[in-house]
Amino acid sequence: MIDKDKIEKAVVSIIKAIGEDPGREGLVGTPRRIAEMYAEVFAGSYQDPKEELKVGFEEEHHEMVVFKDIPFYSMCEHHFLPFYGLVHIGYIPSGRVVGASKMARVVEIIAKRPQLQERLTTLIADTIVEVLQPQGVAVVVQAEHLCMTMRGIKKPGSNIVTSATRGLFRKRPATRSEFLALIQGKQP
Ligand code: ZN
Repeated sequence: MIDKDKIEKAVVSIIKAIGEDPGREGLVGTPRRIAEMYAEVFAGSYQDPKEELKVGFEEEHHEMVVFKDIPFYSMCEHHFLPFYGLVHIGYIPSGRVVGASKMARVVEIIAKRPQLQERLTTLIADTIVEVLQPQGVAVVVQAEHLCMTMRGIKKPGSNIVTSATRGLFRKRPATRSEFLALIQGKQP
């Protein structure tokens, strides 16, 4: 599990290292607050997203299902700064389906880890493939990275878009186009 005491000690060191006084009124509770926050935003490291999908149900549905605009917050593992945005998921069941709240939980668990957007995207797709064994899956993630917008190249509002396709979404351009049209709110 996450060792909050260790985080607390480390944050005291960081506060001293930047030349601040860890005993100052505004900073005195900061190490504990950061420890509590990390325990929350990295909770997904100790959870298995596959478990969420195991409660799906059998339904003779073989048409595309799209979950649009699932919000997420994650932490870039290179800078420990947030990146956040929206996930869009499409899949074509081979009988087994799940509800929107379960899909949102899969996204949340995978996002709450030291993460990269590319890995977040492929892991969501691969988790769905592994548990639901659908005919195809497509995942599109659009995100803003604070490590890019508040420092470094400083391009506010710049979005990174990543995608992963499996099965029919990879094989059939028409299926992929239908999904893209649906997430953009256009008539396919
Ligand atoms: Zn970063």
